[in-house]
Amino acid sequence: MNRTVAIIVAVASLSLLASIIWTPWIAAAVLSLMLGLLLVTLRRQQRHLAELLREPAALALGFDESITALRAKLKEVERLVRDRDAEIAQRRQITSAIPDGLFLLDPENRIVWCNQAALVLHSLDAFKDIGKPITQLLRQPEFVAYLNDDSRPPPLLPVDSRMLSFKLQPAVDGARLLLTQDVTERERLDRMRRDFVANVSHEMRTPLTVVGGYVETLTELPVDEVQSRRYLGMIGVQTDNMRRLVEDLLTLARLENDQLPADDSLLDLSLIAHDALSDARSLSAGGHEFVEHITKTIVRGSSSELRSAVGNLLSNAVRYTPPGGKISIAVRADAKESAVVEVTDSGVGIAAEHIPRLTERFYRVDRSRSRETGGTGLGLAIVKHIAQRHRAHLEIESVVGQGSTFRLRFARELQESAAL
Ligand code: ADP
Repeated sequence: MNRTVAIIVAVASLSLLASIIWTPWIAAAVLSLMLGLLLVTLRRQQRHLAELLREPAALALGFDESITALRAKLKEVERLVRDRDAEIAQRRQITSAIPDGLFLLDPENRIVWCNQAALVLHSLDAFKDIGKPITQLLRQPEFVAYLNDDSRPPPLLPVDSRMLSFKLQPAVDGARLLLTQDVTERERLDRMRRDFVANVSHEMRTPLTVVGGYVETLTELPVDEVQSRRYLGMIGVQTDNMRRLVEDLLTLARLENDQLPADDSLLDLSLIAHDALSDARSLSAGGHEFVEHITKTIVRGSSSELRSAVGNLLSNAVRYTPPGGKISIAVRADAKESAVVEVTDSGVGIAAEHIPRLTERFYRVDRSRSRETGGTGLGLAIVKHIAQRHRAHLEIESVVGQGSTFRLRFARELQESAAL
């Protein structure tokens, strides 16, 4: 800029001198020349300035090093902001992947933030509900009491047909995190476990009480030999019942723990059926008519498990068919159909409402008949597990007073691979 001022001063002085020494037209010419030079200089400076504005790096040439340092700082800040944004996005992704609900509550219990699972579990609308006090959305007295005093035991409450657990954790500056978890399935399994333990205890208590009674009689009362033999026979029956129950429990536990059959060898269902049939005949002791339609049928699987499944179906047919009734077994395979084992009886039959529950552990339609005939209430649960492990279905058809059909139908691929 100093150069520009110098040029202006020079131009002004020269024109003044020219107007004094020479004629006005010479002065005008000198003035024009000088003004021209001035214009060229200004133009050059304007271009330089425009360049500086367009490319800030050029500033560094013109200004001191602090500008370069400032620009490096700016880049560093930009990088930090980018990293922070990526971190926030990642945390958002993680919190939305958490299956449990998370709420951040301010000291007045208003919702500051919540994750996706919290919105879904509590059927909330992010736009409408964030900012509201949580007690407007969850009003159960047990929850409100826990919110006001988080030293109380965390509650377990039904919300929209689900069972949810709640847990408060301190965050920062009086804010708190509220964790909510869908524990419906866990509760269902817990209830099943409790029911199972109660059922097993009940099943064991009955024979134990009977055995205890006979032992007491035998030791404390004067009984003759005939009576004592009879009592010992009763003790034997109850001991057998308990042994069967323990065996069935162990079988069920093993089947439930294993995902796949221990064995997948090729086996002939007709041999298994003949084997199980001879047990059924001795259980029946001539009380029933047996009919068989058994053809060679190869499947893959565990021979001992399938023997147990077919044996259970046949023993049920004997136990739930009054003497004189008919029991038939069919084993067949067809290129189009699946391999099938079918046990039909002309027994007491089962009312339709019981059929879906028959494979539940300890479910019995006729409790006394089951006990009298030495049933454990676990037979069909075992059959269902074995069927699942062999990719087979258990189909049940029954009419009260006319009889029942229990059918194991194997998946076709299993049969095809076995035929190779
Ligand atoms: P259980 O040891 O009591 O026989 P299962 O699990 O084998 O236990 O069978 C469950 C219930 O299903 C039985 O208690 C009985 O009421 C019914 N059931 C099973 N098989 C038959 C059948 N062939 N005819 C009639 N009822 C049956």
